[in-house]
Amino acid sequence: MKETAPSTMESLIQGRTLGKFRCVNCFERITAPHGSKTIKCPKCGFEWRVSWIDPEFPRIRGPVWEVNRRLAAEEVSKRGKGVK
Ligand SMILES: [Zn+2]
Repeated sequence: MKETAPSTMESLIQGRTLGKFRCVNCFERITAPHGSKTIKCPKCGFEWRVSWIDPEFPRIRGPVWEVNRRLAAEEVSKRGKGVK
């Protein structure tokens, strides 16, 4: 009896690398899970829209304005509340 090894499965798992790029705001290296449409920077909290040129190659398309504007506004309001 012949047993077929699941070699294709193994190579698929091994080939599952994560795409990396830099945060435009703070230049932190971010890892994007495959197929994700947005990615949040763990360092500064800004969010970026991601487009996938290739299954292994993510690219930042632009900021998620709703999130980044809110973060910027929070910064401003913190400063505006007499915090010296
Ligand atoms: Zn960042």
